[in-house]
Amino acid sequence: QVKENGRNNICHYSEKLEEAFSRKKVIGRQLLSAVDNGELELHYQPILSASTLDVVKVEALLRWTSPTFGPVSPAEFIPLAEAGGSIFGIGNWVLRKVCADLRSFRDEGLRLKAAVNISGMQLMQPGLPEQLAEALADHGLTADSLELEITETVLMSDEDIISSLINLRSMGFCISLDDFGTGFSSLSYLRTFPVDLIKIDRSFVSGIQPGASDDTLVRAIIELSHNLGLRVVSEGVELKEQFDLLCALGSDQLQGYFISRPLPASALKAFISGYASAASARESSANIR
Ligand code: C2E
Ligand code: MG
Ligand code: MG
Ligand code: MG
Repeated sequence: QVKENGRNNICHYSEKLEEAFSRKKVIGRQLLSAVDNGELELHYQPILSASTLDVVKVEALLRWTSPTFGPVSPAEFIPLAEAGGSIFGIGNWVLRKVCADLRSFRDEGLRLKAAVNISGMQLMQPGLPEQLAEALADHGLTADSLELEITETVLMSDEDIISSLINLRSMGFCISLDDFGTGFSSLSYLRTFPVDLIKIDRSFVSGIQPGASDDTLVRAIIELSHNLGLRVVSEGVELKEQFDLLCALGSDQLQGYFISRPLPASALKAFISGYASAASARESSANIR
């Protein structure tokens, strides 16, 4: 009896492994043709200024629908795109699509800036500055329309990354350090990294809960960043309590489901115009009072 169960478990385990392995293989292969097959899409998540409560920019977030698995999270497929080499084509598609969307927003009177996630492999690619310059120029935009997000772990991985960032900054791009606090880098490194903003990772923000708030780390990160002349964006703001406390602690910008989920381009336009008219309604009712 025991033996049989043991054997079944082993069988079950190896089937699971095989399944996971083949999912990875299939995803890696499908990503090679995802651009050509039109399977990619960008969603945009609004980011607010804490002082004016205006939408100051949006973060572009990649969406992929696999022909066999349906929607797959970028957290799962970006590493596989890096492993299989499709990240270069996909990354360039993202840059061109962001610029095309920013252009059409402008043509409709909406002046927006976008933050784009750049993977470590993209940063190491010698052609990245030219790809960026071309995507911008083709849509009549300049470097101040884009902010480049890179993660802390990528930044710590290589000296060449630092020089690549210094070069991109000299082209006029702002650099933000994504997922800050998860990469185990010493806080003192912040002084030497060529970055303009830091994004406090959601895991710290979620420590702020009604009643039992643990804001020690968030408070320290905001203070230190400001002392170093860096602006702070708080990610993953899901609750009003988090929003209010982060504003009070001096977070410069806020992003999260409490404000809005990432939206397709058309829904983003509707969100921003609805948001703006709600703001002016609030203002005029305040004036009456
Ligand atoms: P990220 O850059 O840190 O993006 C923030 C992630 O948090 C997004 O997940 C977003 O949908 C999610 N999020 C935003 N607000 C909230 C909230 O209030 N609560 C919760 N629980 N989640 C929230 P998403 O879109 O699944 O992206 C995951 C990661 O995939 C991104 O993390 C980024 O590292 C990567 N990624 C996304 N798009 C691209 C891309 O175009 N290129 C590259 N290289 N990486 C990308
Ligand atoms: Mg990001
Ligand atoms: Mg992040
Ligand atoms: Mg993240």
